Amino acid sequence: MDEQARAAAAEQQPGQQPEHQPEHQRSRHPVVVIGAGPVGLAAAVHLLQRGLEPLVLEAGPTAGSAIGQWRHIRLFSPWRFNLDPAAVRLLEASGWEAPRPTALPYGGEIVDRYLAPLAALPQIAPRLQTGARVVAVTRAGLDRTHSRDREGTPFSVRARNADGTVREVTAAAVIDASGTWSTRNPLGTSGLPATGEPEAEARISAPLPDVVGRDRARFGGRRALVVGAGHSAANTLIALAELARAEPETRILWAVRGASAQKAYGGGDADGLPARGQLGSRLRRLVEAGTVELHTGFGISSLKALDSHVTVEAVDGRTLEADVVVPCTGFRPDLGILRELRLELDPAVEAPRELGPLIDPEFHSCGTVPPHGARLLAHPEKDFYIVGMKSYGRAPTFLLATGYEQVRSVAAALAGDRAAADTVQLELPETGVCSTDVGTGCDAPEPAAQDCCATEGIPS
Ligand SMILES: Cc1cc2nc3c(=O)[nH]c(=O)nc-3n(C[C@H](O)[C@H](O)[C@H](O)COP(=O)(O)OP(=O)(O)OC[C@H]3O[C@@H](n4cnc5c(N)ncnc54)[C@H](O)[C@@H]3O)c2cc1C
Repeated sequence: MDEQARAAAAEQQPGQQPEHQPEHQRSRHPVVVIGAGPVGLAAAVHLLQRGLEPLVLEAGPTAGSAIGQWRHIRLFSPWRFNLDPAAVRLLEASGWEAPRPTALPYGGEIVDRYLAPLAALPQIAPRLQTGARVVAVTRAGLDRTHSRDREGTPFSVRARNADGTVREVTAAAVIDASGTWSTRNPLGTSGLPATGEPEAEARISAPLPDVVGRDRARFGGRRALVVGAGHSAANTLIALAELARAEPETRILWAVRGASAQKAYGGGDADGLPARGQLGSRLRRLVEAGTVELHTGFGISSLKALDSHVTVEAVDGRTLEADVVVPCTGFRPDLGILRELRLELDPAVEAPRELGPLIDPEFHSCGTVPPHGARLLAHPEKDFYIVGMKSYGRAPTFLLATGYEQVRSVAAALAGDRAAADTVQLELPETGVCSTDVGTGCDAPEPAAQDCCATEGIPS
């Protein structure tokens, strides 16, 4: 399809089928996209441009709800890598002004300056339903064990509305772009919640609290225990130190599972990514000055919530007392909603099987993941794809630029354009998109986190 035809397709109203579309691709049912994050919205744009009808179901009250929860965090990749080219074309046609490509946006700017205007476009708004949490996906009338007529049977997507009512949406295909933000890794060192962790929930904060901003009251003058060794931990610890300067009663504890925090400090002055080196060096200075109290080898076994505080116990019996625990332990995909589908996942990282080895954080980092599309993302369940952050399973190295290429390819595959689906192209600078890294996000269970945003040859 040429550019003009794509633009025309993107102009169509919901429910209209383009004339040029082959008969077998015309379906009464939409392609359901789960999640209106940056990758889900980009998927909608690419589907429209392919003449397919998207319906985006978003759990939160607005597009970009997950990023909205870390709006105070600055991304480590500049604007030019954070925008989907097809979405930009659609936005620009409406008079939208692109941000400076080299600037590093905050999460809040991604929402306000990009996702909100995109969601409001007349091509997208009628095809986006917010307050609609997908709770299950299946084939209509078929459970996972039924093979007969499976590929010719539409999907049934069950969604719970904000008012608690439940409805079923019939779909020709499903693209799961629901991210991983709502399913953090537990504090327990074995991958399971620590004993007492669910009961201590009221003393556990969000993974990236805004400690000097909207969450200040919860942290100022209190004892905060930060758990984990990734960039989120580093950012939170540095922000807590800033808070402690204003409110000196604030106590900052930091627990890492490894024997040393050395790798969380990065390469310092010798780091190939200067800003990341700076982040690590600042953290090291805070530890050396005693502002941050570091506890190494602290694999958590249990939490005990008391009226006044929470006691956190390590596997070796050491205990720490805190008012609030910050879980910077990374994320994992919610596969429960996909239980009735036939998936094929990498046993280690829970990404599509063939993608797993390419992104395993033990061996790869942001800049080193090869571009990939529909073929690699496919599951035995035809016309079902997991894309975006969730496609990486437990690997922390996902980048938006990769996700945009994923959905371009998936939309082409669903439209039957195999050649375009297989021509995956993604050009990232040698240092990945982290070349202007200010160090954030990309958390993983140790020891992988420190590798995030590095590329081979860069000390980490
Ligand atoms: C702090 C932080 C910093 C990051 N910095 C960068 C960076 O600098 N550069 C970069 O390239 N990447 C970065 N990333 C990684 C990644 O690009 C982001 O996480 C990005 O938001 C992923 O986009 P997504 O669309 O896949 O998922 P999300 O942005 O998480 O969007 C998923 C959407 O799905 C919705 N949803 C969830 N479950 C359901 C459901 N069951 N039903 C319906 N809707 C649902 C959510 O509400 C959300 O709106 C960062 C990540 C974090 C956490």
